[in-house]
Amino acid sequence: MDFKLTQEQELLRSEAQKLAREVFKDRAARWDRNAEVPWDNIHLLAQQGYFGLIIPERYGGAGGSIMDLALVLEEFGWACVSTTMYVFSSNVHANRIAQLGSDEHKAKYLSEIAAGRVLPCHAMSEPQAGSDANRIRTSAVPDGDHYVVNGNKCWISRGAVAHLYLVDVVFTGGDKAEKGLLLIERGTPGLEIGKIEPMMGHRGSPSTELVFRDCRVPAANRMAHGDFQSSLMAMSLSRCCNAAIALGAAQRAYDEAVEYVQQREAFGKRLADFQGLRWMIADMAVKLDAARLLIYRAAANATAGFPSETEAAIAKTFANEAALSVVSDAMQLFGASGYSAACPLERLYRDVRGFAIAGGTTQIQRNLIARKVLGRRRY
Ligand SMILES: Cc1cc2nc3c(=O)[nH]c(=O)nc-3n(C[C@H](O)[C@H](O)[C@H](O)COP(=O)(O)OP(=O)(O)OC[C@H]3O[C@@H](n4cnc5c(N)ncnc54)[C@H](O)[C@@H]3O)c2cc1C
Repeated sequence: MDFKLTQEQELLRSEAQKLAREVFKDRAARWDRNAEVPWDNIHLLAQQGYFGLIIPERYGGAGGSIMDLALVLEEFGWACVSTTMYVFSSNVHANRIAQLGSDEHKAKYLSEIAAGRVLPCHAMSEPQAGSDANRIRTSAVPDGDHYVVNGNKCWISRGAVAHLYLVDVVFTGGDKAEKGLLLIERGTPGLEIGKIEPMMGHRGSPSTELVFRDCRVPAANRMAHGDFQSSLMAMSLSRCCNAAIALGAAQRAYDEAVEYVQQREAFGKRLADFQGLRWMIADMAVKLDAARLLIYRAAANATAGFPSETEAAIAKTFANEAALSVVSDAMQLFGASGYSAACPLERLYRDVRGFAIAGGTTQIQRNLIARKVLGRRRY
């Protein structure tokens, strides 16, 4: 086992770190305060090729690994979670097309995503189906060489700005109803962007409802290998990446706290000289390190395009909860200053909270882990 990054990965990480710290860091409060899409950052990321990090080179991407992506997401997450979510979705959803789509889908969409001209998003959740994804009802009924789609999706991150929707639907009309993925382009008649949800965090990456009313989609847009089980398996990449961004945000909170406790004084000594606070910092370091190793394991072991379901679930559960605890402790160390909206910690706190819900809650991850250990429950 080798814990060292390659020279190329060290370089990739340091370039991402430079961009995050020199450009994204100071802009982050603006997108959050105004719930504004970070277009300036999105254009910059597109120019610099970050949307195609793991897209194969023949489709205009950098052909990088899932480990490369995790490293970059961690660095960007340190500076601005909202901005990072666009790098997340372009790479994660492009990977879904690369693994589950037809040659035509790959040829049509991957180079556009890599160039940042097409922003994709994934629409699975529905009002009655979140954790229980099997209960989705959005239907796709065959009609000649089209499907007619009807239904409602909710909580769809970046749904209002995306150009391409990877939509989980129930294909009906055959012998039996089958769930699977359909690619639907923005502007298709019958697809409406619904209400934008005022969210607590991730505010530059807005969540919306999507409404499909007799939306006619070419039958060729059905993902060739996008059966529901594969679509759920593909979630393991988004879980690993969700964990990497949460880790980056928590690392930022920790860095701020380490600096603060060495400056701030109380009772005639530095906060850093109180034993109880030193142990808090030590515990934060332990959590960050353990989360990082679990994420790197899941990313480095990924084969056939996706990390293992169990390794990704373990990494996500631990990193989500570690991030929440680290950011909360950093806030505690700052006292009232940490609770002030002028301090980045309160934004990090709100942003990090969402990761334990998005992409499958930490309870659902525990169900997956327990299923691996104990087998399926018997009723
Ligand atoms: C920031 C953010 C971004 C999101 N982005 C997207 C997106 O882009 N696309 C998309 O499709 N969805 C998205 N979602 C929705 C997300 O996937 C769902 O919120 C999530 O799957 C949980 O579903 P739910 O909200 O319906 O909660 P429910 O499923 O109603 O769960 C409620 C509670 O019950 C628990 N629970 C449910 N079932 C079980 C069980 N079997 N065992 C133990 N506990 C259980 C859950 O863990 C949770 O604590 C996003 C959500 C957030 C917060």
